[in-house]
Amino acid sequence: MLARFGGATMADFDVIIVGGGLGGAALARLLAGNGMRVLVAERERQFKDRIRGEFVAPWGGAEAQKLGIYDLLLEKCAHETPYWASLGRPTRDLRTTTPQRLPALTFYHPAMQEVVLDAASSAGADVRRGVSVREVKPGETPIALLEIDGSVRELTARIVVCADGRSSMGRVWGGFSPRRGRQRMLGAGVMLDNLSIADDTSVGAINPFLGRFALLFPQGAGRVRAYLIYPPESVPRIQGDDDVPRFIDESVQTGIPRSAYAGAQLAVDVEIARLFSLRDAWMLERGQIPNAEASIFKVWFTELNERIATAAQDIMGAYALLRSEDPLAPIEGRLEKLYRSFPLYKFAGGTNEVMRNIIAQRGLGMPRA
Ligand SMILES: Cc1cc2nc3c(=O)[nH]c(=O)nc-3n(C[C@H](O)[C@H](O)[C@H](O)COP(=O)(O)OP(=O)(O)OC[C@H]3O[C@@H](n4cnc5c(N)ncnc54)[C@H](O)[C@@H]3O)c2cc1C
Repeated sequence: MLARFGGATMADFDVIIVGGGLGGAALARLLAGNGMRVLVAERERQFKDRIRGEFVAPWGGAEAQKLGIYDLLLEKCAHETPYWASLGRPTRDLRTTTPQRLPALTFYHPAMQEVVLDAASSAGADVRRGVSVREVKPGETPIALLEIDGSVRELTARIVVCADGRSSMGRVWGGFSPRRGRQRMLGAGVMLDNLSIADDTSVGAINPFLGRFALLFPQGAGRVRAYLIYPPESVPRIQGDDDVPRFIDESVQTGIPRSAYAGAQLAVDVEIARLFSLRDAWMLERGQIPNAEASIFKVWFTELNERIATAAQDIMGAYALLRSEDPLAPIEGRLEKLYRSFPLYKFAGGTNEVMRNIIAQRGLGMPRA
C-alpha cells in the first residue's frame, strides 16, 4: 500500500518497505537492483511456519521469471510439481496446458521468505530484522517510526510501502477503515512426512456436496503440505496437533483417498515400534526384565506388520503381491512375504491375546478374569 508518494530528495531512503514477507522482499530486491536506496523493516528475526501459501501456480512462476528470481527459487527452496490431479479427472500436465508452459512450484514458506529477503539484501537493500514499524505518518515526505531494540527511531523516505500482511496496520496509518465480510470458509493446514503420493503431482479434491476442498502439495522427499478448506458451520474448527487425525478423516471424507495419508501414520507407528524396542533393550541393559514391556512391543510390532502389508496394497495395488522372483516386485518381494507371514506373527511366540492379558495384569495391575 502506498502511504505517500512525495518528491523530497533529502529523505533517508527512496523507499521504506514495512514487512519482509514474500511481497515486501520481492519488491525490495527489484527496487534495490534498480539502484534505489531501500530499507526493509521486518519484525520477525526468524520466520515461523504460519501455514500459508506454498504453491505457486504457473502464472506466478512467470511473474517470478520476470522478477528474475525463478532460478534462485529453484536452486534454493522450490520444488517443481508439473502435474495437477483433480481427483476423478485426468491428470493435467501444467507444462503443456498453461499459457506459461511452466510447472507449478511448491515450497516451505519460511524458507522462501529467507531466500527472497537474502536476495533483496544481496541486491543492496538495507534489511533490518527484529525491527517493528510502530507507525507511518503520511505526508509530503512520509515518516516511518521504527522500534529498534526498545527505542523508536524516525526515518523518512520518498515513498513508504506497507507490505505488512493481512492484518495490515498500513490500512489504519493510511486513514482507511477496513471492513470484514462474513467468513465463508476456514482453512487448516498440516505438514506431513512420508506420504506416498507422487512427488511431482499436486492433488486437489473438490466436494461440492460438502462445500469443501482438500489439497496436497508435495515438496519433495515424501514431505507434503496438506490443506483442508471448509465452511465453518460444517465441522468443529480444526486446530492444533490433537486435531491431525480429524484433519485426515475430514480430508478423506472430502475425497482424498485414505491411502494417500497412510505413509505418514505408518512412519509414526514405525517410530513408536523403535522406541518400544529401545525401552526393552534399555531395561535388559540395567538387569531388569521387560515383562509387560516386551508384550507391548510384540503386540504393537506384529499388528504394525499387518498395517504395513495392507497399506502397501492400498498404495501399489497388485504390485505389492508380487513374489521375490518377479523382477517387478517392490523391495525384492518383501511386501508379499510380509502379507503372507503377518497372521503367523500375531500368534507365534505367544498369541497377542495372551500378550494383552500380560499387559493388563503385570503392566496395568488389573485382576485376572
Ligand atoms: C492458508 C493460506 C494458504 C495460502 N496458499 C497460497 C498458495 O498456495 N499460493 C499463493 O500464491 N498464495 C497463497 N496464500 C496467500 C499468500 O500466503 C499471501 O498472499 C502472501 O504470503 C502475502 O505475502 P506478503 O508479503 O504480502 O505478506 P506476509 O507474508 O503476511 O508478510 C508480511 C510481513 O510483514 C511483517 N510485518 C507485519 N507488520 C509489521 C510491522 N509493523 N513492522 C515490521 N514488520 C511487520 C510480518 O512479520 C511479515 O513477515 C495463502 C494464504 C493462506 C493464509
